[in-house]
Amino acid sequence: MVALEQVSKVYPGGVAALRGVTLTIGRGELVAIVGPSGSGKSTMLHLIGTLDQPSTGTVRIDGYDTAELDDRELSALRSSRIGFVFQQFHLAAGVPVVENVADGLLYSGVPLGERRRRAAAALHRVGLDHRLDHRPHELSGGERQRVAIARAVVGDPPLLLADEPTGNLDSVSGAGVLDLLHELNRAGTTIVVITHDREIAESLPRQVRMRDGLLVDPTAADLVGGTR
Ligand code: ADP
Repeated sequence: MVALEQVSKVYPGGVAALRGVTLTIGRGELVAIVGPSGSGKSTMLHLIGTLDQPSTGTVRIDGYDTAELDDRELSALRSSRIGFVFQQFHLAAGVPVVENVADGLLYSGVPLGERRRRAAAALHRVGLDHRLDHRPHELSGGERQRVAIARAVVGDPPLLLADEPTGNLDSVSGAGVLDLLHELNRAGTTIVVITHDREIAESLPRQVRMRDGLLVDPTAADLVGGTR
C-alpha cells in the first residue's frame, strides 16, 4: 500500500526532517509511527498522504510513484485512496454532522443526495446515527473525532492516515477511538497512526520507531506485509 525508498526531506532553511527512510507498509496493516517530537513523523505522514513531495527518494502509494503524477492526478489519488484524521478534528463549526461527513465526498463527483446517504451510513459505522443533525459544538471530543473518522472513511479509502488521533481526548474516549480504528482495520482498511504515546503504540500490531529523521529499527525496511 505504501512504499518509501531512501526518502529524504529537507525543508527550506535547511532542516533535514527525513534522512533516507525506506519503509514498506502492506495492505491491511495497522501501524504506529512513534518517536519524540521533531523526529520526522508528521513529515513522513505528509509524504505518504501526498500532501508534500520528498527532496530525494521515491514515495509509492498503491503502486503509483507520486513523483510521476501531476497535481490533478495527485488530488485524484488522494480523494479516492486516502483518508485523513487529525488531532484537532477539523470539523466545520455550526455545520450539521451529516454535512461535515458528506463534505468528505465533495470532490468525488457523487451527487448531493447520495453524499448525504453515504454520510449517514458512515456515521452509522462509527456509532453516531443518533447525532446526524447535531452541530460539532454539541458533541464530546470523542464524538467529534468519530465524526472526523466517518468523514475520512466515507469514500471507503483503502488507506487511513491519523495524526495523533487521540491527542485531544481523555483516556476513555481515546480508547473508544482506538477500538474504532481496529474495527476499520479488521474490515480491510490499512491504517497508519502517528503517536507519541507508547502505550497506544504498543497496543497496535506494528510499530515503526523514528528518531532524528531516521527509522530506529533497522529491520523495519525489510518488513513487508506486516510479517515479522
Ligand atoms: P514530528 O512530527 O515527529 O514532531 P516533524 O516532521 O513535524 O516531526 O518535524 C521534523 C523536523 O522538521 C523538525 O525539526 C521540524 O522543526 C522541521 N519542520 C517540520 N515542518 C517544517 C516546515 N514546514 N518548514 C521547516 N521545518 C519544518
